[in-house]
Amino acid sequence: MTTRPGAGFGKTLSGLQGIKSIEDFELKDQRVFIRLDLNVPMSGEAGALEITDDTRIRAALPTVKYALEKGAKVILASHLGRPEKDEDRAKFTLEPVAERLGELLKCEVILIEEPNSDAPKALLSGLKPNQLLLLENLRFDVGETKNAPELANTIASYTDIYINDAFGASHRAHATIDALPKLIAKRGCGFLIKKEIENLSGLLAGPAKPFLAIMGGAKVSDKIKVIEKMIESIDTFMIGGAMSYTFLAAKGLGVGKSRVEKDKIAFARELMERIEARGRKVLLPVDHIVADDFLAPTKIETISGESIPEDRLGLDIGPKTRAMYREEILRAKTVFWNGPMGVFEKPEFAKGSFAVAEALAGLVAKGGISIVGGGDSAAAAEASGFADQMTHISTGGGASLEYLEGAKLPGLEALRTVRESAAPSL
Ligand code: AMP
Repeated sequence: MTTRPGAGFGKTLSGLQGIKSIEDFELKDQRVFIRLDLNVPMSGEAGALEITDDTRIRAALPTVKYALEKGAKVILASHLGRPEKDEDRAKFTLEPVAERLGELLKCEVILIEEPNSDAPKALLSGLKPNQLLLLENLRFDVGETKNAPELANTIASYTDIYINDAFGASHRAHATIDALPKLIAKRGCGFLIKKEIENLSGLLAGPAKPFLAIMGGAKVSDKIKVIEKMIESIDTFMIGGAMSYTFLAAKGLGVGKSRVEKDKIAFARELMERIEARGRKVLLPVDHIVADDFLAPTKIETISGESIPEDRLGLDIGPKTRAMYREEILRAKTVFWNGPMGVFEKPEFAKGSFAVAEALAGLVAKGGISIVGGGDSAAAAEASGFADQMTHISTGGGASLEYLEGAKLPGLEALRTVRESAAPSL
């Protein structure tokens, strides 16, 4: 992950500074192109695909509804998965998404097979108020991921106003995220991006204290930059998931066959020293749920101490840790959570992640702030049943981490239309 330069002006602008919102435009009868992230998980075979989680579709609705209510001619677009060849079209079609959008919006969704053509222009001229266009999976055109000017030019030829509401795709310089908005004078963000940036910027600007960061998931290496960025403002750093074994190993404790990143042990040791030197706390699991094997566990046990025996591997935090983490969460004012506490996809190892989600809901109930950083922690929050009680769950795992690391997101930079001197503050 690299820090990218700004879009040419306003290099020091951040957050939503210099970015217009959909509410700043007169939308009536205008052709409004809305880039969404409708990259939803699906199951089943080509021809009978089913959406297994429509969170991203529902998150996109406020902006689309607003545009329709204001009388815009709406063109929606998204990518889905990673199609590589023509034969992949049936597997990665947006057809099920078109159907679900039609149900939720109670309107006719016309799926455009070939966005890089004149077809949308012709259809838009006769579009009725209860109809909208959805472009077929943008990644069927190789120009999308290549940030190709040709694709951007064609879409620009049938777009009056460009709105980006695809937070989960805004860390990628793709044609409809980067090249296209730069061609459209009237450009801005939708309600989802606004909500994402306002919530994440709050963490960067100075979270209400005590500020607790909970990190888990598979790897330390994925999260080093965000940890580095937050280190000055963190009061307590709580670690779970596979990540915790690298930290336990750094303390010289036994981790058995658990997943450890050997080349990150030194980093983990240094990080703990830095945090503790500032008089802040690092919390690690004090007990574990372990098994004899990752893929086919036959023996699942609770280990009541910090050390894991040589022939076992840790797959979740244990009951004492759950209680300790719960108390600590309830003592905080702001919590950022990224990465599950265990292999939450399997019910035997989901208790730790669910306990964190429950405690975060408790924190919000007493006026605290809980921000969940997308990806697997969002999935764990969803599976726990407490998702709707979080302050904010980011819809973009990669995008939210990059934003919090301080990287410039191409999708945001391409939207800035106000020079630094004229920029309003966030
Ligand atoms: P990440 O994308 O880095 O947040 O990692 C999420 C993944 O980490 C999930 O698929 C979890 O199953 C996995 N995970 C969490 N805890 C462990 C663990 N103790 N051992 C192996 N994988 C884990």
